[in-house]
Amino acid sequence: MNDTTGNPLDEILNRLRLTALRERLDNLLDEAAKREMNLREAVQFLLEVELASKTEKRVRMSQSMARFPCQKSLDQYDYAAQPSVDPKQVRELATCRFIANAENVVLLGPPGVGKTHLAVALGREAIRVGHTVLFMSAAALVASLAKAQDDGRLDDKLVQYTKPKLLIIDEVGYLPFEKRAAHLFFQLVAKRYEKGSMLLTGNRPVSEWDQVFGDAVLVTAILDRLLHHSQVMTIKGTSYRLKEKRKSGLLKNLPTVEEGPRSESTN
Ligand code: ADP
Ligand code: MG
Repeated sequence: MNDTTGNPLDEILNRLRLTALRERLDNLLDEAAKREMNLREAVQFLLEVELASKTEKRVRMSQSMARFPCQKSLDQYDYAAQPSVDPKQVRELATCRFIANAENVVLLGPPGVGKTHLAVALGREAIRVGHTVLFMSAAALVASLAKAQDDGRLDDKLVQYTKPKLLIIDEVGYLPFEKRAAHLFFQLVAKRYEKGSMLLTGNRPVSEWDQVFGDAVLVTAILDRLLHHSQVMTIKGTSYRLKEKRKSGLLKNLPTVEEGPRSESTN
């Protein structure tokens, strides 16, 4: 496909990296002629095809680099099932202005209320508007930082996690951090502070995070930076997963788990 010898136009398209045009030029020119476009319209038509192809490639590449655990979209989020979620606030977050302003978002609530769903969906919106995103669980993140520290590469790792415009850290607080992990987490938060956004999800209210990080001084330092420019969204409700099961009659006898950010169970 890359052999453009002997065809000057192909060669130019190749050097300009207009790959979609190079591959589909004849068909596109036919189409332009069929639609009786003038030259200006034809140029626009051709460049629009190239732009769409480049955008699609960028989105695909960024999505794979983001390492989302699942593919969820905002369209799939059922607001009626979770009345404590304000659709207006979600729509505002979906504009990704918070990323442009390097603000943080903290999504809190019990298991199954859609924190990961919303985090992934907002991450995909961020990619759509051109940002880079990385999704990690809090446990995987601190494990990776600890390993890097053991290998004498902590600074490189911290730089790596500072690069994505949006870093999503899922499940903060499901497992308490050891002192070293808490300190590593602090270093990351300090490094990203006012430079790049973070979106955290957690099952415990921020007021209980001293138990998560195990150190009152450290947690103050972390929250100070994290919450300085931030939006906190607390979802109060029942697990969507259990709701679906209950509807189907599978879990008739199970009690309803209302408002349980303190819940110890993982999802
Ligand atoms: P959490 O991270 O809060 O524990 P998840 O985001 O993993 O919850 O949600 C559990 C499952 O339920 C996922 O499959 C998710 O897509 C679905 N879900 C949760 N809340 C909603 C909702 N309001 N509308 C549609 N699907 C939902
Ligand atoms: Mg989750």
